Amino acid sequence: MKENLLGLTREEIERFVVSLGQKPFRGRQIMKWIYGKGVFDFDVMTDISVPLRDNLKEVACIEGIELAERVSSPDGSVKYAFRLSDGNIIESVLIFDASRVTVCLSSQVGCPLGCLFCATGKVGFVRNLTSGEIVDQIIQIKKDIPGKRVTNLVFMGMGEPLLNYDNLVRALRVITSEFGLSIGARHINVSTVGIPDRIRALADEGFRVKLAISLNATTNETRSRLMPINEKHPIEELLSAASYFARKSKRWVTFEYVLIRGINDSVEDASRLAGLIEDIPSKVNLIPYNPIEGVDLSRPSLEVVERFQRVLLDNHITATIRFSKGTAISAACGQLSGRLKKRN
Ligand code: SAH
Ligand code: SF4
Repeated sequence: MKENLLGLTREEIERFVVSLGQKPFRGRQIMKWIYGKGVFDFDVMTDISVPLRDNLKEVACIEGIELAERVSSPDGSVKYAFRLSDGNIIESVLIFDASRVTVCLSSQVGCPLGCLFCATGKVGFVRNLTSGEIVDQIIQIKKDIPGKRVTNLVFMGMGEPLLNYDNLVRALRVITSEFGLSIGARHINVSTVGIPDRIRALADEGFRVKLAISLNATTNETRSRLMPINEKHPIEELLSAASYFARKSKRWVTFEYVLIRGINDSVEDASRLAGLIEDIPSKVNLIPYNPIEGVDLSRPSLEVVERFQRVLLDNHITATIRFSKGTAISAACGQLSGRLKKRN
């Protein structure tokens, strides 16, 4: 079988070209074509000799994902559905915000964690993405914005990135490499439901990416109801890992909190939240729940959202409100691919 060079780290691609009797720098040249120029065709790689190109064509390939659908939203964000080589669909979103150009990435097809409020959770788990499928979302979207750079990345699309840890880390190596996509770790935000040992491992990896933890509740009872994984890793365990990450990476952690009417949006919840995280260098991102089909939950009024924020601010917690971009095109997690699947 041919070796797919897409998604290999610098070390891996260098090892591969050395196995073909070449010098390691040939690997870095190939990386520059793939990630710098989006070139997947060996014949276009003109600084590589013809015999080596012929050899590469025999033993290697550069195979990625394919655009299935692109939907623009009035707010300027663009939602992409990509088809994988096995026919599965994943989605990514391109968001323009002031001077930032952010791509929201998927890490898995579906997700095994089944959070009550999440469209991806309803799909169930299909499979992990390869590191190539993760990075190719950026390469393909870059082609749509000639002359512009992708400045920021968030892992907030489909899937739980820390349950696809090895491929996430390999993708991060390619993304942050000067021969890869050259996006700095501080511009990358990994959003997780919170798997404590993986949070610690990611901190130990030394990347210094930013971490967002989907907390979403202030008691174990409510959190377990919304997010079944909490039965296995309760809030205390999660906060201890969050604290470790903040100390080790010297970065503030973001706690994401999806506000759901009558479930986790009370003033008591807000003060409990302030108490829970007061000793962790962190901020809170409040996300009013984005309704999904077939789930009997609703979004609180703007007043309730602002009241929640006020309590946090009064307790000296930095708290912002994020209205998910592109709601008009179902930009929230998992919703577009769900629609595409139904149509097939
Ligand atoms: N699995 C990771 C990343 C993907 S979900 C995680 O759970 O963090 C990205 C974010 O979208 C999470 O903070 C999640 O709580 C939020 N989210 C999921 N469904 C949502 C919905 N219907 N409305 C608002 N936010 C939602
Ligand atoms: Fe999975 Fe995140 Fe959705 Fe929960 S919120 S089901 S962890 S993708």
